[in-house]
Amino acid sequence: MTAQTTGRPVLRLVALGDPAASFDTRWREDAACSGLDTELFFPVDERAESVEPPRRVCRGCPVRAACLADVLATEDPARRYGITGGTTPAERRTLHRAGLTTAPAATVPAAGGDVA
Ligand code: SF4
Repeated sequence: MTAQTTGRPVLRLVALGDPAASFDTRWREDAACSGLDTELFFPVDERAESVEPPRRVCRGCPVRAACLADVLATEDPARRYGITGGTTPAERRTLHRAGLTTAPAATVPAAGGDVA
């Protein structure tokens, strides 16, 4: 089975602990937020107008799946802050409770669900 290609970054949800979600940290070298003001990613609240500017950066980020997988694997559940991997703390809480993380589309068969 081959991964679908859409021409844009696709986040494929996989179960936490899935070996397909393993990765190293070299992805950080390609982060779209590299060099940007980090305050952009820590909006004062989670209203749409507050979170849209950092989400816009994340949507175009080539390493979004690895970023989100990393934060879901390493973030302290009691201390979720900021927009990372294109998600709010509340969204990451939901993904974590569901036992889901992400992997780059190329590493997982097309049967999983996508997060755009
Ligand atoms: S997904 Fe967003 S927070 Fe993560 S590396 Fe890319 S731009 Fe930065």
